[in-house]
Amino acid sequence: MTVNQKKSLVAFYISKYNDAAYRELGYNGTKNKALEDLSIRITGPDVEPNAYIRQRRDEFDVFFDNGRVGYCKRKPKSAVTEMYEKWNIMSFEEITELVKAILDGKMEEEQVLNLKNIDEKISEHDIEAYLNFSDDTAALNTTVKTVVERTYSKTKVDMLKRLYAYKCQICEGNIGEEYETNIAEVHHIKYFSKSIDNSSDNLLILCPNHHRLIHALNPEFDYDELQYLYPNGKIDKIALDFHLTYGKEEK
Ligand SMILES: [Zn+2]
Ligand SMILES: [Zn+2]
Repeated sequence: MTVNQKKSLVAFYISKYNDAAYRELGYNGTKNKALEDLSIRITGPDVEPNAYIRQRRDEFDVFFDNGRVGYCKRKPKSAVTEMYEKWNIMSFEEITELVKAILDGKMEEEQVLNLKNIDEKISEHDIEAYLNFSDDTAALNTTVKTVVERTYSKTKVDMLKRLYAYKCQICEGNIGEEYETNIAEVHHIKYFSKSIDNSSDNLLILCPNHHRLIHALNPEFDYDELQYLYPNGKIDKIALDFHLTYGKEEK
């Protein structure tokens, strides 16, 4: 996630839950100090804290009756409305877990595994089946389980899905919604079985249809344009993006 994406989520959390949010994050003193500290926790100690979180919080205030005035009469930017719509369905516990993971740098955590030590071939299908479905009914061999468990935080995948309200980053659909279930899936842009790359920048949240199409056709992913190019010339743009950082900002 980019710094601003992280700050936006924290701002949403604070706007919606206000005192409870500060308390949950361990702040008892002044809110100004807390906002400054949150800024530093996201950008690191070498960067001056800025007012981004506060400004974003003011923008989210339109949606919440939290007693602050600020921007309450203004029409929110469409990007702000989009974030509100996706994030507002999370419960307090769910978003708290996500905010804490972001503040603790958990979304960036990576572990690299030396696949040379593993004799059996691990298929992309098995890895993603394991990550996408919590039940153990899929006939996965122990090697896949061991490799994936050692390398991969399933929690990170679950939290990314939450960040998108289980909607597909390409078509923005969530077919499970009207059935009151969530069937969004995680996909590795560079196939995990080849890249062993589990950084968030290599992950997309997709509906089962788009996921299936991508594995069937192996379209090329263009990071600059954030789109897939299929063999027949069709293009699928990434319509929803709350976490990809490639080319967006200097670390
Ligand atoms: Zn889709
Ligand atoms: Zn996939």
